[in-house]
Amino acid sequence: MFIGKNCNKQVHSNQPSFLYPFKKRLKQYPKRLAANTFKGRDAKLKCSDEPGGTGLEIAKEMGVCKSCYDLLEACQNINISL
Ligand SMILES: [Zn+2]
Repeated sequence: MFIGKNCNKQVHSNQPSFLYPFKKRLKQYPKRLAANTFKGRDAKLKCSDEPGGTGLEIAKEMGVCKSCYDLLEACQNINISL
């Protein structure tokens, strides 16, 4: 049982909550040399680099009910903000 953060209604205990990302921010990931180690075909340890780059990072997410989650997803797909 929880209170949905979008509609402020109490949701029954047998219904799960869904985490919806309300805010996202641009994040830059640096290049890392020899970040990952793994065993190669010859069973020797090898290293690989991570190229880095940019991506989106979740800044704020809230627990919402199923109907609010579906509504927010539909609005996001057609670029409407509530
Ligand atoms: Zn709701």
